Amino acid sequence: MDDTCAVCADILNWVAYGPCGHNEVCSTCVARCRFISHDRCCSICKTPSNIVFATKDLGQYTKRIGDFSVLPSDVEEGRVGNYWYHADTQAFFDDLDHYKMIKSMCELSCSVCYRMEDQPIDKFRRKEKFKDIQELKDHLFHKHNLFMCSTCLEGRKAFICEQRMYTRAQLTRHINRGDEEVDGTEIDRGGFMGHPMCEFCSISFYGESEHLHTYVH
Ligand SMILES: [Zn+2]
Ligand SMILES: [Zn+2]
Ligand SMILES: [Zn+2]
Ligand SMILES: [Zn+2]
Ligand SMILES: [Zn+2]
Repeated sequence: MDDTCAVCADILNWVAYGPCGHNEVCSTCVARCRFISHDRCCSICKTPSNIVFATKDLGQYTKRIGDFSVLPSDVEEGRVGNYWYHADTQAFFDDLDHYKMIKSMCELSCSVCYRMEDQPIDKFRRKEKFKDIQELKDHLFHKHNLFMCSTCLEGRKAFICEQRMYTRAQLTRHINRGDEEVDGTEIDRGGFMGHPMCEFCSISFYGESEHLHTYVH
């Protein structure tokens, strides 16, 4: 049986781990935790790690770093000896393509344009990067007439490329009760019924934060 990630339950392909050695979490989940949630703790034992090592999951043959102090400190983005260092997640990679993949997930770019770039005709076009979310939102609206949900952007711990994009009608449906086309069927949505809205100030909330907000009134 294939190993699965202890956090997202996807098949383990690449893992990342710190000095505690827990290598059962996929590198995407580790990067999401470190980059999006600013949480440098191991998801299994909660030990904080200043650096992690990302490598291919090979079950019991997965490459082990026994002593993290052998990894160079004070390094800059890019190639370091046999590894590649990614500053945003403080991670060393032993595979260039995988390093590039995680690096690009942490960048603010338009996933609609990025998908089009996979097609050979656009091969030479440079991937556009945005300086902030607002710039990306403006681009999505002007170029593709698409929207991201602001409530999800704040509350959903996901990479920008994992955030969903909606047409205006889909976004309205998403906020009110979840959108079949983008969010998936009721089963896929796992109980998502739209964002709860405060009746006093018409702000919508991402799950939990709603309960805290009621104290405002
Ligand atoms: Zn995972
Ligand atoms: Zn651990
Ligand atoms: Zn675009
Ligand atoms: Zn949302
Ligand atoms: Zn309110």
